[in-house]
Amino acid sequence: MKRVRIWIKDRIKFLRSMKLGLFVIIFVIGLIPCMILSNILLHSYTRKAVDIRTADVTNQLHIISDHLITHKYLQVNASESIDAELSQLSNLYNGRILIIDQDLKVIKDTYGMSQNKIVISPEVIRAFRGETVSNYDDTDGYIEITMPIVENTVSDDGSTGSAIRGVMLTSVSSDTILNTADSLKDISRLVNYLVAVVLLVIAFCASLILTRPLKRLGTAISDVKEGYTSNPVMVRDYIETEHISEAFNTVFSRMKLLDDSRQEFVANVSHELKTPMTSMKVLADSLLVQEDAPAELYREFMGDITREIDRENQIISDLLSLVKMDKTAAELSISQVDINALIELVLRRLRPIARKKNVELEFVSMRQVSAMVDEVKLSQIITNLVENAIKYNDDNGSVSVKLDADHQFFTLEVQDTGIGIPEESLGHIFERFYRVDKSHSREIGGTGLGLAITRSAVLMHRGSISVDSVEGEGTKFTVRIPLVYIAG
Ligand code: ADP
Repeated sequence: MKRVRIWIKDRIKFLRSMKLGLFVIIFVIGLIPCMILSNILLHSYTRKAVDIRTADVTNQLHIISDHLITHKYLQVNASESIDAELSQLSNLYNGRILIIDQDLKVIKDTYGMSQNKIVISPEVIRAFRGETVSNYDDTDGYIEITMPIVENTVSDDGSTGSAIRGVMLTSVSSDTILNTADSLKDISRLVNYLVAVVLLVIAFCASLILTRPLKRLGTAISDVKEGYTSNPVMVRDYIETEHISEAFNTVFSRMKLLDDSRQEFVANVSHELKTPMTSMKVLADSLLVQEDAPAELYREFMGDITREIDRENQIISDLLSLVKMDKTAAELSISQVDINALIELVLRRLRPIARKKNVELEFVSMRQVSAMVDEVKLSQIITNLVENAIKYNDDNGSVSVKLDADHQFFTLEVQDTGIGIPEESLGHIFERFYRVDKSHSREIGGTGLGLAITRSAVLMHRGSISVDSVEGEGTKFTVRIPLVYIAG
């Protein structure tokens, strides 16, 4: 069942194609007006032809009406010339003429069927009132004209007038008109077929031409997707295709950048993890080749190996924290934290390290600060910065941690009197594995990940971190974090 559904879906997929849509629109928009126009023309031809025929017949009837009066046909009811005239007219128009006198009696029927019968119809009544009435019956195909037979009179006082002496009721066939209309209909049908064929070709070509830029865009994008090329995609035929090309290029270059940095990161990680391994291997190998190595040498080398293992451990745990930071901010466990107490706790923990270098640790609290933060991550931020300030300090130097706040943010400044950071390195220190002086840092024991972790943690809190440093004089890191965490 599912297969059948997929098969049907595949078959009717083309219905959603833009090419088909354009094809249908062009075809329909072209054909419908053509059909409407031919219909209108056909109808107006028929109407015009009926009007002309009616006018013709009416003219003829007027002439006959005059003759009827002159020959006193209505009174005498016999005139060969009138009869001939009437039969000629009825033959000419393939029609029937009835002459009705004032008593509504048919005195002449060219078909001879209603002779002497009485005719009362609304048209006849209207004609006796002086109106000429014409009707067109398109179903039976005839035109009916009812007109009064009028005699001009001159009264005794010399004034002229007119009197209706009878009515002529005529019906003429409109077959010739209908035949012409039929043949015109055939021609128009033929023209419509021709137009439809031409439109089919035009619609087909137009839909192909109009959708060609989209096809080109699709091909260019799939070329990039398949990896045949990494050139930017650009189809400028329509504004829309240009926009899509630009959007695609932006997304693609962002992805490329991401991919490059991921590759660089993997290369860095491998390198950093390999370095302690290599040292350990060298140390172990050199012990193995010496057959009677003294116990002190063993102890010394083992001590070195242990240090390398610690370093490897440090790198791995730093990497793990970094990976965790890369995940969404939903991982933050936010709570109301007393920042002053937290700083004091961190400083208490780091004091032994500071003491080793005889570095003075000082905490300057401008006010009591309580903020909504992730306590573990904030303590990691403070630890990293203060640890660096001690590590990269001169012996007998000092580190000052200052805490302040306004109504929106709290600010943490970690200032040291250490070696400082060269200007050209300031832009890089937050990068993963970046260290200003690799050999020196190694001696000190850094992994190059501390500030990257710190920065990620600050950003997760929607805060900011900046650095000011003068080489040989000291460094100041400033962290600003909102007092209230707003998710989203
Ligand atoms: P590391 O583990 O090497 O300390 P970090 O990411 O914490 O790595 O720091 C990156 C580099 O920035 C350090 O190697 C060091 O060269 C420099 N740096 C960081 N903090 C300080 C500081 N307070 N004074 C001088 N240099 C610093």
